[in-house]
Amino acid sequence: MKTVCKAQWTGAWLGSLLLITSHSPLRADHATPPAGSPPDSAAVHAPKAVDQIQALIREASLALLKEGNGRFVAGQPRHPNQDASRRSLTVSEGQKPFATILACSDSRSPVETLFDRGVGELFVVRVAGNVADETQVATIEYGVEHLGTPLLVVLGHSGCGAVSAACKGGELHGHLPALISRIQPAVAKARAAAATPDRVIPTAIQANVWQQIEEIYFQSSIVREKVREGALQIVGGVYDLEKGTVNWLGAHPNQEALLSQADAAERESALSAALKARAESPARSAGGADGGTDAHGHGDASQTPAQGTQHEPDLLRSLLPIREVKARSPQPEHPAEEHQPEHPSPGPHH
Ligand SMILES: [Zn+2]
Repeated sequence: MKTVCKAQWTGAWLGSLLLITSHSPLRADHATPPAGSPPDSAAVHAPKAVDQIQALIREASLALLKEGNGRFVAGQPRHPNQDASRRSLTVSEGQKPFATILACSDSRSPVETLFDRGVGELFVVRVAGNVADETQVATIEYGVEHLGTPLLVVLGHSGCGAVSAACKGGELHGHLPALISRIQPAVAKARAAAATPDRVIPTAIQANVWQQIEEIYFQSSIVREKVREGALQIVGGVYDLEKGTVNWLGAHPNQEALLSQADAAERESALSAALKARAESPARSAGGADGGTDAHGHGDASQTPAQGTQHEPDLLRSLLPIREVKARSPQPEHPAEEHQPEHPSPGPHH
């Protein structure tokens, strides 16, 4: 096991990436100026080298997943990187996964198996309904920041019991209401978009993928920063339990707007918290020297407000962009009509 050196460890991974990216359309699209262009236009059309490399890595990571799923569907898996030497190597050198994946806990959608990947390759978060609650987002942040995965996939699946339960309603026990509430916004959108009642669940499964991507954006400034840097690509997908295929949905259609809205929401939340803390501080509740101010920056008229307090509402207005939070996610324009299984919704299974 010790005969495998570090160079081989990283080299094998990058070798796979380069092999795949050598066929990527990105190479032709960005590295080569248009035919017949004057020499100076090459600099205009060529992106920064680091941007190009990041794009290649992101695309190569996704290509590795697509290729592995292709082998799985064809019944020709290679089961790569699953032997004793791989286990030893990943212990001695640490893990270097190339993708973080948020997927459902459903036992019929085993992530490493359906992508035909091995030990140390995928950083997987699995929870019923692939919901992005706080602890899932924290795990995702570890994957994309600490481990540096260039790809994050939110993967739903056909016949998801958690989404089905959210659609059907009914009494829920234990901690399930908290989980199902995370899916309800997607169900509401699906009810509005589905052509017929029997399409609500398949439509909601796709809408829930978008919903959870939005949750990740809104909860994690780390993720947003990685996406802005070009170090991370987030895509959605829906796994078909029966066919074994993944319907890749791509990036969120409103990604840029989501990034801005999430930044604004975070600034607003931070300012509100700071103002509230200031208003509730002992000095202020005792009518301190700088006057009273409530959580909304409204000064106490019975006091003579000092400089600073007077300007807090203006400060809020200047720092908070006007935003529309309504309809954060896209309505399912392609509500999985053509992508969902022939016999959707086998019922709850969690
Ligand atoms: Zn599920």
